[in-house]
Amino acid sequence: NFISSKDYTELMRITSPFHITVETLAHLMTTMEKHCQMGLEPNTNSSSDLKMLPTYVTNLPTRKEQGDILALDLGGTNFRTLLVKLHPNNEPQVISEAHIVPDSKKLLANDLFEFIVDVLKQFMIRNQLDLEQEYVLGFTFSFACEQIALNKGKFLTPSKGWVLSDLIGQDVVQVLQRIIYQKQLKVKITALINDTVGTLMACAYHENTCRVGVILGTGTNACYFEDINKIHTISDRAVLPTEATEMIINTEWGALGEGGCLDMLITNFDREIDRISNNPGIHIFEKLISGMYMGRLAAEVLASLINQGIILKTQRDHKQSYRYYGPFHALYMLQTSHISEIELDTGHTFANTRNVLKKLGLDYATNTDCAIISYTCRLISRRAAMLTAAAIAVLMKRLHENKQVAMKKICIGIDGSLYRFHPRFNMVIQRHLKILAPVLLNYELRISADGSGIGAAICAITANDAR
Ligand code: ADP
Repeated sequence: NFISSKDYTELMRITSPFHITVETLAHLMTTMEKHCQMGLEPNTNSSSDLKMLPTYVTNLPTRKEQGDILALDLGGTNFRTLLVKLHPNNEPQVISEAHIVPDSKKLLANDLFEFIVDVLKQFMIRNQLDLEQEYVLGFTFSFACEQIALNKGKFLTPSKGWVLSDLIGQDVVQVLQRIIYQKQLKVKITALINDTVGTLMACAYHENTCRVGVILGTGTNACYFEDINKIHTISDRAVLPTEATEMIINTEWGALGEGGCLDMLITNFDREIDRISNNPGIHIFEKLISGMYMGRLAAEVLASLINQGIILKTQRDHKQSYRYYGPFHALYMLQTSHISEIELDTGHTFANTRNVLKKLGLDYATNTDCAIISYTCRLISRRAAMLTAAAIAVLMKRLHENKQVAMKKICIGIDGSLYRFHPRFNMVIQRHLKILAPVLLNYELRISADGSGIGAAICAITANDAR
């Protein structure tokens, strides 16, 4: 592929800030470790970027859990209703439906919850559940909540583009439970969990070495089992089982960088993504990584390459197509799923890349254009996966140093479309964990498909049985 040395120099100038080294990752790890520690201490908690929220989940699944349990899973792009049938030592049977709430992200919580409960009722009727019978429900609510018990959580901050302003400071369970009872359903919410916790618990149901849960979808976050004596922010120890030695901590790692600790990594393109987001200055780490932002980030870089005359020159010169689409406008339709498609290309025909560009109305890409576009996407997704690896390594290090894992292996449960469908994410994480994770600790990354809802059901029935 031909590229002039001037264009090459310019391409490198624009894209080089996305190259990060292992030294940078090591530095990031040290910073994140400090924030983890501060987040667990009451006197430094407020100066930490990481909320390190206690979840009140203290036990792994036993596989003795039993019953027909309902679950609601809300917080990403769609919401799900689930009926999870647990039988001791058997595979869970799961009936799950995804629902789209029109303009859901703009709704206030009260309207949203009313809609959800109506859908839940229809779901119960469709699945022939007796509406006169009592059911327990686990609620996966994937936003930061300050919990004081497994079934009590004050909503802290919206993220991932959601508004929910009427819910801030309120107990999420109380609000939803009131609407459930108003609508005459005998459904009791016994557990409020985060999607990372659900992912960990559902993974641990199959693999008892699982101690970390990670989400890589619209947003990103992770949780892990912490030594209970090292968590100094538990507001009420009396509600804990007396034998509890560990508790899952929801790190809310997407917020890292809010105090400026990631500034050495932030490019001008990241600054632009943050500026145009509906929560500028917030959830910086998430904006470097997750699916909600990656497509737009790539579009910003590619627009800059067009601006400098490095790519899509033919497209720009093609008057008719330019009039209808304009290369800049078209590129902003680029989605994170398109990045996966582009990176699936093998060989030099760039069939997928051309296909994506065609979908965006860009029909005049040369092979050189495709090569540069593909290279740019790879740089951006690679940086995201490297940062994820460093963050996972921090949690593994903590588990290792706490020595609460007697075994030599840790399983990490992961869910989210970015991880599941991007062709290289897993490989880049694995490669960097080899360098960054504690030497003596083996690890396995496991997809915990739809784990967030199943995990909620496991937590809900465990909590109900303990009452
Ligand atoms: P949630 O919204 O609950 O996180 P998902 O895990 O399905 O649900 O994540 C959806 C996000 O994943 C989308 O917003 C999109 O950014 C990203 N995504 C969807 N499909 C793909 C794909 N094929 N490759 C990479 N990312 C994808």
